[in-house]
Amino acid sequence: MIIAVASGKGGTGKTTVAVSIALSLDVVQFVDCDVEEPNAAIFLRPVIAEKIPVTMPVPEVDESKCSGCRKCAELCAYNALVVIGKRVLVFPHMCHGCGGCTLICPEKAIAVKPREIGTIETGHAHSMEFMQGILNVGDPMATPIIGQLRARQRFLHTGYRTHTVRPARFASGG
Ligand code: SF4
Ligand code: SF4
Repeated sequence: MIIAVASGKGGTGKTTVAVSIALSLDVVQFVDCDVEEPNAAIFLRPVIAEKIPVTMPVPEVDESKCSGCRKCAELCAYNALVVIGKRVLVFPHMCHGCGGCTLICPEKAIAVKPREIGTIETGHAHSMEFMQGILNVGDPMATPIIGQLRARQRFLHTGYRTHTVRPARFASGG
């Protein structure tokens, strides 16, 4: 069973409710998806066993190949690229990692490089499996971390990674 505790507003008590539910159940995977400010660890005091960096792909332009055609900047819906003459300015924090600019560049001048946006931490708290995502301060891209948390939760849930190969309940702050 998955129990999701969610709200669009901070301070409504998501963490209190999620932690209380989790502590009242027997077998729990607790996933704190409130990556901008995960607070469940304050109450659960988990022992963190693993810290996994989360990255997303951002463009890197080889100016020696660039013709200044502007196709990349015209394509980018997030204004993460600006072309001035034959110089392409990249604003990594505005990039959503869609890869479109890399595909459209006729000169094959755009490669991708990983940009670290945060961390996933895993461990145990009481008798439960614990996971939380932590977005780097000032970074706007929360959803890739939440997506990787969810993917990892599914991974754990199937029992492939841990000895906890058993039906598990799930509580989520965030
Ligand atoms: S990867 Fe997508 S979002 Fe990022 S700069 Fe290229 S087109 Fe824009
Ligand atoms: S699409 Fe490629 S060649 Fe054209 S401006 Fe962008 S990086 Fe340069």
